[in-house]
Amino acid sequence: MTELAALSVSAALIGLNNGDISSRDLAHACLAAILEHDPALRCFLAVDPQHALAQADAADARRARGGDLPPLLGLPIAVKDVLAVEGLPATAGSRILAGFQPPYTATAVRRLQQAGAIILGKTNTDEFAMGSSTENSAYFTTRNPWNTERVPGGSSGGSAAAVAARLTPAALGTDTGGSVRQPAAFCGVTGLKPTYGRVSRYGLIAYGSSLDTVGILARGAEDVAALFPHMAGHDPLDSTSASHPVTPIDLTAAESLAGLRVGVPEEYFIAGIQPAVEAAVRAAIDQLQALGAEVRPVSLPHTKYALPVYYLIAPAEASANLARFDGVRYGLRVENEDVIEMFKDTRGAGFGPEVIRRIMLGTYALSAGYYDAYYGQAQKVRTLIAQDFLTAFEQVDVIAAPVAPTTAFPIGGHGDDPLAMYLEDVFTLPANLAGVPGLAFPVGFDPDGLPIGMQLMGRHFEEAILLHAAHAYQQATDWHTHVPTLATP
Ligand code: GLN
Repeated sequence: MTELAALSVSAALIGLNNGDISSRDLAHACLAAILEHDPALRCFLAVDPQHALAQADAADARRARGGDLPPLLGLPIAVKDVLAVEGLPATAGSRILAGFQPPYTATAVRRLQQAGAIILGKTNTDEFAMGSSTENSAYFTTRNPWNTERVPGGSSGGSAAAVAARLTPAALGTDTGGSVRQPAAFCGVTGLKPTYGRVSRYGLIAYGSSLDTVGILARGAEDVAALFPHMAGHDPLDSTSASHPVTPIDLTAAESLAGLRVGVPEEYFIAGIQPAVEAAVRAAIDQLQALGAEVRPVSLPHTKYALPVYYLIAPAEASANLARFDGVRYGLRVENEDVIEMFKDTRGAGFGPEVIRRIMLGTYALSAGYYDAYYGQAQKVRTLIAQDFLTAFEQVDVIAAPVAPTTAFPIGGHGDDPLAMYLEDVFTLPANLAGVPGLAFPVGFDPDGLPIGMQLMGRHFEEAILLHAAHAYQQATDWHTHVPTLATP
């Protein structure tokens, strides 16, 4: 029965559409796999089996009626707990939102529901998506299915681990500085960070509003391609969502990469990168070449500024976004007769140490007298970083690079060293600062058996090209089909 839970999105849709499997059996299998393995892995903050099965039954009934059927009818997915889903709690991994039930559903989720998907539950995340390991979740740390002493990456670690462990065919994540791509790499799954503005942010609990994107984690590029067009596109409820047309992504002709120009940026192959990571990424680039792509060096000269720029802009925006959590409107309140004291006590008790650090850094960077020196300066350098990509994309169609300098690190490995944690993000932050899409997918394993990921970055709105290239790679290789061995409880 739980074998059904191991189906990829594409295989599940074929089975559902030709009547081999029912949505109830599929949802039931996922719920059974969650029941069996989640106590050890801790991917989920909330699961509502009754609600999931009711949605599955409704999907099966709809299919029995026949006629024009929505394309994802009956497909179970999981949702990162920073996206609002009506009927389920939304905590963003924070105590300050304990007990909060949003009265509406995020557009990205609602569109997938309209396309027929059903929601299994909400996945764990670093508090307010601030982190690279899920260790900043106020509730618990998710474990990497490949080695439960290791982090799954973050902040969408619950989603990545759940997909890798075959608890769900796919999951939504968010990527502000790498939070879809890095956990995808650490868990050996495929993860898309779309172009900024491509997917509505309505119903997403905001972190860094000029950087936040909603993405997908699944087994392979074809699975991501099956879901992505159904959640993308302009939304009147998000004024920053782009009106660029969304078309179905057809990967059938993806055997050859002839004509594709792949750029390899020297700035992403730096000292300190784990040798196995570099070797696997270079081998994957060779594979792209063997499939017909033309590989050439490119330069993104301002890459070294991405880390300091991001860690000014993201906390600055976070400090403004998180001002709304004051004990009045949502979740936790620490009572005090003095309203100012109530704000302070609530925020002091409700926010964890990393969130408090970011609010302080961000408030400082935005304060009078420092604004120009920090925030203003960071914005200017951000423009240079974005310009690097535009220049490079005059010569190449995609840029290939490692996702992270290392494979999954041990839980507690970065201890109390926030800088060491921030350094995990060096290769993912630039795409967010530039707003370009990025796709992470597995390209090998390190000597400890931990997955290694590569990312392809592309021009704005050219997600389909990334998916095409990755799909061609995945048809020629089998890294994305490896399954972690889970302990039987
Ligand atoms: N690790 C980065 C941070 O902590 C990115 C997080 C994200 O993409 N949400 O800000």
